Amino acid sequence: MNKIYLDYAATTPVDPAVVKAMEPYWGDVFANASSPHAYGRQAAKALEDARDVVAKFIGATPAEVVFTSGATESNNHAIFGTARSLAAKGNHIIVSKIEHHSVLEPAEYLQREGFKVTWLETDADGLISPQALAQAITDKTILISIMSANNEIGTIQPIRELGQLARDKGIVFHVDAVQSLGQVPLDLKAWPVDLLSLSAHKIYGPKGVGALFVRRGTKLPSYLIGGGQEKGQRASTQNVAGAGGLAKAVELCQRNMDQEIEHQIELRDYLIRAVLQRIENSRLNGHPSRRLPKNANFSFENIQGESLLTALDMAGIAVSMGSACSSGAMEPSHVLRAIGLSDELAFGSLRITLGRWTTRKEIDYLSEQLPVLVKRLRG
Ligand code: PMP
Repeated sequence: MNKIYLDYAATTPVDPAVVKAMEPYWGDVFANASSPHAYGRQAAKALEDARDVVAKFIGATPAEVVFTSGATESNNHAIFGTARSLAAKGNHIIVSKIEHHSVLEPAEYLQREGFKVTWLETDADGLISPQALAQAITDKTILISIMSANNEIGTIQPIRELGQLARDKGIVFHVDAVQSLGQVPLDLKAWPVDLLSLSAHKIYGPKGVGALFVRRGTKLPSYLIGGGQEKGQRASTQNVAGAGGLAKAVELCQRNMDQEIEHQIELRDYLIRAVLQRIENSRLNGHPSRRLPKNANFSFENIQGESLLTALDMAGIAVSMGSACSSGAMEPSHVLRAIGLSDELAFGSLRITLGRWTTRKEIDYLSEQLPVLVKRLRG
């Protein structure tokens, strides 16, 4: 058996069609998109074409899309920018406990600076209830940040209901949509969302490029200052190749979304059934039905996730323990803790994430190997 990649939530391989779409940017279309000559205009056109594609896919206008270096930057910009522009209005922000570190750490930073932060609890499946959010809102709340789907356990939040609560109170609502892009339909014409973060490398695009949707009328100060690019939101010579790659990735997502969702749900449920049936004292983490098509997250009693990860790696299977961003750290996953898992179960967890090229044969191989390895490690 060849190597099997089942860590698509950490990152995805770049789709060959994306690689091809990016080729011109390493050749003819090399210019600075701000240059006033013909070369520059060609690059500027490519950049704006890419912005149009991204905007259309999410239901935004091109003017509402700011290209960034990825979702970490988009999230930092959304949180720090809102806090800075609305500090005179209020000093309270609400962030769910299961956000990615690129949301949690800016919020912790603001807390040290004197902002009040409510760390919103989830239920045991990782779901945030609109009632809990409503109770957390005060007349000083200026920002709510809740991810559309969790990167570790795959739980999909009721974003429209949560956003409506923010909208009704005139509170800025930020959504980290990195993991749900291409997995859950998204329409910002209908969704009451003011700021939304995206990243190309989770949808078969290149690393180091993403976007922040900033709804018209939402005030954010410049994130980087210097050259005034991106309408003053983010200085620095624009990454035309990256934007072109993101746009192609988005295009492929749009074209294949229904089939990919169906394909991944089928394989995911097949895997979940096999694991829970074949391995005693195992459990599925995250919501049983409101979960990303690509995501399966298990805990195994009396197992060190790290050892299991290594054993699977030696069998040619790449998966993740908790989230890749925090693996290597000795702390158990903050997400698994937030849904009430003991440290022991959190350490004994495995995240398996499927993608565009996952096959039933690969899932069969994993489903055969996993029980054998768990048994060996428990023994
Ligand atoms: N948010 C979530 C939910 C993520 O999964 C990730 C990537 N691990 C990020 C933000 C950060 O994205 P990027 O790598 O583009 O900075």
